[in-house]
Amino acid sequence: MSHITVAIDGPSGAGKSTAARAAAARLGMIYADTGAIYRSIAYKALSEGVDISDERAVGEFLPSVRPELRFVDGEQRVLVNGEDVSDKIRTPEISMATSKISAYPAVREFLLGLQRELAAKNDVIMDGRDIGTVVLPDATLKIFLTASAEKRADRRCKELAEKGTPQAYDDVLKDIIKRDYDDSHRQTAPLRQAPDAVLLDTGDMSLEESVDAVCALIKTKS
Ligand code: C5P
Repeated sequence: MSHITVAIDGPSGAGKSTAARAAAARLGMIYADTGAIYRSIAYKALSEGVDISDERAVGEFLPSVRPELRFVDGEQRVLVNGEDVSDKIRTPEISMATSKISAYPAVREFLLGLQRELAAKNDVIMDGRDIGTVVLPDATLKIFLTASAEKRADRRCKELAEKGTPQAYDDVLKDIIKRDYDDSHRQTAPLRQAPDAVLLDTGDMSLEESVDAVCALIKTKS
């Protein structure tokens, strides 16, 4: 097969991005983290003082936003209007704001072309919420990668502690449950498993095991 596109969807904190990034590096593919693009829009909206609860205001703000993905030594950087925001978009405030604006149809429509273009030009592993269902319905392989909310909260707490920004387990779990609910109950492109996606539960897997599992699935298609 000449051109491979892999769609990985699933709830936040399931380990999609870590597994996808490592699998892409191992297989010489590009890893596209679409959550980062949505985050860059939320970041820009907040920094411009746009009222993100106002769907119309967000829609009017979109034409002034220029999100961009660049790949430097295989690593994705996210730019918005020329500013590299890759490291600034990982705060809990941006996570919640992103979940809010990504429910707006105009935002999803705005980002569709950018995501499809990337997949048209590259062998790519793309992760998100609606990649297999909406963005790349003809992907070579679709994976729905998940784990229980408790396992995900546990992992997230460990990551935050390692970064020196610890947070209470109950707060982290509450955020995860709220984001899962919002992402899977919104009207436009809700998070759900595509009928032809392979379900991968990473709850009892180490990172290495989940990377192995993703690579093994990709190899069956290449
Ligand atoms: O994947 P990540 O947690 O960075 O995504 C942040 C938020 O962006 C998600 O909670 C979801 O609301 C939204 N998102 C989306 N569609 C995607 C990727 C992310 O709606 N393809």
